[in-house]
Amino acid sequence: MEIKTIGVLGAGVMGNGIAQVAAQAGYDVVLRDIEDRFVEGGIKNIDKFLTKSVEKGKMTEEQKKGVLSKIKGTTKMEDLKDVDFVIEVVVEVMDVKKKVFAELDELTRKEVILATNTSSMSITEIATATKRQDKVVGMHFFNPVPLMRLVEIVRGYNTSDETVEITKDLTKKFGKEYVEVKVDVPAFIVNRLMIPHFIEAMKLLEQGVATKEDIDKAAKLGLNYPMGPFELMDLTGLDINLHVNEYLRKELPQELKWQSSLELKNLVKAGRLGRKTGAGWYDYNK
Ligand code: NAD
Repeated sequence: MEIKTIGVLGAGVMGNGIAQVAAQAGYDVVLRDIEDRFVEGGIKNIDKFLTKSVEKGKMTEEQKKGVLSKIKGTTKMEDLKDVDFVIEVVVEVMDVKKKVFAELDELTRKEVILATNTSSMSITEIATATKRQDKVVGMHFFNPVPLMRLVEIVRGYNTSDETVEITKDLTKKFGKEYVEVKVDVPAFIVNRLMIPHFIEAMKLLEQGVATKEDIDKAAKLGLNYPMGPFELMDLTGLDINLHVNEYLRKELPQELKWQSSLELKNLVKAGRLGRKTGAGWYDYNK
């Protein structure tokens, strides 16, 4: 089956980036969110990114219009009926993901692959909401999607080789590199490396060993990381970080290192979620 149209569910931070990358690769995209304002917000973000690309001379105004014309925004689930591949990018809550997958299973043709962009959760468990567990796969993009080159392709327990191969091929057509995560483990590779590094950074801060500015500086100049841990947490969203951290603690209780920082919990309670709310570890309103 030739893939021509891609359904993207969720027009948030990651969803609109994935829709953009798919449209830029020449696919027709149906971008669905639950309310008009979220769909419009997603498309506005894509427009903003492409406008900057035109200003920088990376694409022409015509090309920008061409990409935008390939994306159809909608709030209606039925509009995904005829898509050839689905990427789910809704909130990181298992029950919501399962509900969405059950709906997709009813709605789309039975040969269609249903991919999830979950950052940590079990592909195997999400797949149980469908009658096509062999066609459910993890397709984990990174933020910001148009700029980050990696996709982790994650096998659930029942994901077929064919599904993995088709997903690899699509990832390449999106202009991305992939790594294959062969076993369905919580948080896959990148987050499994990243979260412990965040936890250690927060411990150093809480123990008064150094300021967050110096910890960020140490990671950048001493490890050659492009961003320090606090800057990166603000970029990805503190709520998402706390969520992944708590998920790891629940799923891997034998490993005691996953204790969430009290300060992180307090920042999330206070609504300081990072750049998206104007403040997190750092203040972006100044
Ligand atoms: P977000 O909150 O920005 O966007 C989620 C969107 O999904 C919202 O607009 C919400 O209205 C929508 N939504 C909720 N239920 C829906 C439904 N039934 N149908 C369609 N849309 C629905 O979140 P995000 O940061 O884009 O994260 C989305 C997913 O991507 C999560 O699973 C997250 O873990 C994962 N992820 C996030 C990042 C990151 O850096 N933010 C990186 C990799 C993966």
